[in-house]
Amino acid sequence: MYIFSASNRSLKIIKMDAYDKLEKIGEGTYGVVYKCMERSSKEIVAVKKIRMEMEDEGIPATAIREISILKELNHPNIVNLREILMDESRLYLVFEFVPMDLKKFIDSRPKKQLDEGTSKSFTYQLLIAIYYCHVRRILHRDLKPQNILIDTKHNILKIADFGLGRTFGLPIRVYTHEVVTLWYRAPEVLLNTQRYGCPVDIWSIGCIFAEMAHGRPLFQGDSEIDQLFRIFRILTTPSEETWPGVSDLKDYKPTFPKWSGNLLKDSVSSLNNDGLDLLEQTLIYDPSKRINARDALQHRYFKDLNKSILPALPEIKFSSLQ
Ligand code: AMP
Repeated sequence: MYIFSASNRSLKIIKMDAYDKLEKIGEGTYGVVYKCMERSSKEIVAVKKIRMEMEDEGIPATAIREISILKELNHPNIVNLREILMDESRLYLVFEFVPMDLKKFIDSRPKKQLDEGTSKSFTYQLLIAIYYCHVRRILHRDLKPQNILIDTKHNILKIADFGLGRTFGLPIRVYTHEVVTLWYRAPEVLLNTQRYGCPVDIWSIGCIFAEMAHGRPLFQGDSEIDQLFRIFRILTTPSEETWPGVSDLKDYKPTFPKWSGNLLKDSVSSLNNDGLDLLEQTLIYDPSKRINARDALQHRYFKDLNKSILPALPEIKFSSLQ
């Protein structure tokens, strides 16, 4: 049933004419992103116009409910969702404006590589943000450099698109028919697990960490099977010994080629031993053995990071995370 719940207090029925469209700034997984100015305050915002499959039937109530929860996420390392607007049954999400994304930031660096201090700080900030969401049982599901934004003035990283994967699904293609990148997708998702959780985001953070530190994406697949095989080539083909239960996953095939000999160290030769250890723990096949955000934040790799200059410290002592 598709209804619009007007009683939902976090959803304002404001016409988009409260905003002046300035320019198109990007094309994301779910629709076009525009730079806009709010007429009354003159504030610059980013408005994401969500293309819904069932537009003529209105916006699903579940989508409105789920998106409303995202408005409660208030954290300096998460792009703030300011408003949820509806106009002629289209959905607009109004976010704080952050002028740079991590993909463009990496591409602008010499050798497409970040210095050690920056990649360490960004990885730590990613983990703080993901920790904040995971304790609230909210997953991202599609972390990638394109939806990680950077406030370059203060070196603050902010994750965008939190929770949208749950509400709108993860399409194979974006609305412009461009293929969605699979480079950061966890192997359990690629193997079509029925139940996945927080470890999928940790895998993506591992891939992004390796890319920032080493200057090259770790696993650059161009289809789901190519993505899996690229992972297997570097981390070896998983087996019941290395990943109990893998052979029960829907898309697992006993006929997968058997790659042996772990090549991770050679693939990220610019990482020091502590960095490599952290990376290895984020890329453990068995999701139940993969490091969680809380433990990753306490990893020795971050011992020399000046945490006092970061915008937020995690409340590690007060919450638990499985
Ligand atoms: P996304 O749908 O989040 O993948 O967005 C697509 C592109 O739009 C990103 O790569 C950014 O360049 C841009 N973008 C998304 N959100 C914002 C924002 N809050 N502020 C500025 N630019 C954004």
